Amino acid sequence: MDHLDGLRVSRKTGQSAKMLLEILGDIWMISRNPYLQEDLLTNSDHLQSLLEMMNQRTGRIIARAEGNANVLQLVASATEAVKSFAASFPKTTALRDRIFQALLPVTSRDNIDFSGRGRVAHVTDATDWRIEYPFVVLTPDSEKEVALLVSACIRLGLTIIPRGGGTCYTGSGVPIYADTAIINMERLDRVGSVKEMAIPGVVEPVTVIDTEAGAITGQVAEAAKKAGFVFAVDPTSKNACTIGGNVAMNAGGKKAVLWGTTLDNLISWRMVTPDGEWLEVTRLNHNLGKIHDQPEAAFQVTRYYADGVSQKGEIEQLLIPSAEIRKPGLGKDVTNKFLGGLPGVQKEGCDGLITSARFLLHIEPKTTHTVCLEFFGADLVLAVGAIVEIKNYLDNHKLAGCAGLEHLDERYVKAIGYNTKAPRGERPKMVLLADIVGDDEEVVAQAAAEVVKLAADRAGEGFIAVTPEGRKRFWADRSRTAAIAAHTNAFKINEDIVIPLEKLAEYSAGVERINIEQSIQNKLAMAQEVATFIESSSFSDFFVQGYPSSQEGEAIVLLNGRWLTAFWKKYKNAGSPYSPHWTAP
Ligand SMILES: Cc1cc2nc3c(=O)[nH]c(=O)nc-3n(C[C@H](O)[C@H](O)[C@H](O)COP(=O)(O)OP(=O)(O)OC[C@H]3O[C@@H](n4cnc5c(N)ncnc54)[C@H](O)[C@@H]3O)c2cc1C
Repeated sequence: MDHLDGLRVSRKTGQSAKMLLEILGDIWMISRNPYLQEDLLTNSDHLQSLLEMMNQRTGRIIARAEGNANVLQLVASATEAVKSFAASFPKTTALRDRIFQALLPVTSRDNIDFSGRGRVAHVTDATDWRIEYPFVVLTPDSEKEVALLVSACIRLGLTIIPRGGGTCYTGSGVPIYADTAIINMERLDRVGSVKEMAIPGVVEPVTVIDTEAGAITGQVAEAAKKAGFVFAVDPTSKNACTIGGNVAMNAGGKKAVLWGTTLDNLISWRMVTPDGEWLEVTRLNHNLGKIHDQPEAAFQVTRYYADGVSQKGEIEQLLIPSAEIRKPGLGKDVTNKFLGGLPGVQKEGCDGLITSARFLLHIEPKTTHTVCLEFFGADLVLAVGAIVEIKNYLDNHKLAGCAGLEHLDERYVKAIGYNTKAPRGERPKMVLLADIVGDDEEVVAQAAAEVVKLAADRAGEGFIAVTPEGRKRFWADRSRTAAIAAHTNAFKINEDIVIPLEKLAEYSAGVERINIEQSIQNKLAMAQEVATFIESSSFSDFFVQGYPSSQEGEAIVLLNGRWLTAFWKKYKNAGSPYSPHWTAP
């Protein structure tokens, strides 16, 4: 740093600094751009002329240095950077060759992708965080190939990340090491037919569906629906995410209120362990409902050697107290990745690669009514209380239940341009959507009417959709939250969180408070900067060359300056609107 400061002071023309920045800028830009890397790796003359240009620049800087020790030291460092940049290309080519040699006996050439396009497509997930580009993207054709690829990657010393649809919000699919191999499961998309079968510890046969890990969740749901059943895993991202990702994240969705999350619906799953062997987990004594309704959940874990057939060691049994899987009062505990040692589920891909799974299917209730509740009052506590009341009412109902419940808060309602159903000229502060289901039309209709009444007691207005088209229209607002999510980073916390339902109002108010406080702090900091700048400036600082100075211009600057200074002082003394001494300036 001292060297740089010294150089800044002794700068004459700035030419050497410019050349140095060009060298470093090129290195940085190319290291962040797989397409440019691709070009330089495949066109040796392009690489050669780039390196020559960099070396010429360092030579010219030395020639202009007049023996200045600081300059020479800087050039020595830049020369080292150019050398290691140049060396990275043959290194990359050598590693690519090694990878080809190791993987070609295991998979086809088309399944090994070093291209700029492939690497760019796998640099991030729904978080949009970017750290390193993966070195290679592998797309196995079969479950068997997954195990062989995992073993080969481990022998090559590569870091492995399994990849489904890339819709996850935790960043767990984002490469943080440059030597990462992404194993994209998209070609493992086989969905079996719906069938009845006996499962361990359950007396009656149940209806199940088998699916490979790369199958798109929505397609599995479609297959189940065609056969007259419901696939309970129903995240809003279902048309883009995969079964492997659902298991790894223990995904939920609107149907989770009735049938639980992915884990509650799994009968068994197969996965490749990080050492390239196999593991199969089977749920025992499935209660055909939510897992936490049993005091403890039992699983059987069978290990296999790399061939996937020869059993390795004894079968293990895992008995996990339900409270360890799901904290009482919470639908899902997102902080608990261990889940009592259960492999694969909620692990975000770090303990193995799920290759296929078997799921329990449910019988579609005969009748569904969708209720849309709009709340207009400013009192969030009053409105949020309705969610708890409705849930309690339906939980205790013997013949009707809640098969989907979604809460849209004020910011979302605004973001999706929600069309108010009530005859009012304003948008609601909160919208609740609920699917109320049962086998008796009259009972469901009564339950839906009761839910609307519960909302009315809390200043809400309710609407009921009975036809499939009407229900679809109600839920369309909820799917639009998925599309809008990509554009809402400014106010959306992209984190999975779980809070007890009764704390929702407190939580929403708390987040809003943080929003307001941060926003005020930002504005105050900006106002302070501008005020300080204006206080310490004279009119000549604002004079723009080419524009004639005028009394009028001077007056405007002075006026603005005084106004900003006064504004800042008033705010500074007033403090936060949450402070007891705050008065609006
Ligand atoms: C618009 C939108 C709406 C969403 N709505 C919901 C929702 O309603 N409910 C909900 O729960 N989530 C939701 N999500 C989050 C996300 O869709 C789910 O977590 C989903 O399960 C991720 O699946 P994926 O195939 O996209 O996984 P990816 O994003 O590809 O991967 C997620 C993690 O799983 C690992 N992984 C992927 N495949 C495998 C495999 N075969 N074996 C082992 N590990 C694997 C990855 O390494 C990564 O760590 C939403 C996301 C978006 C963008």
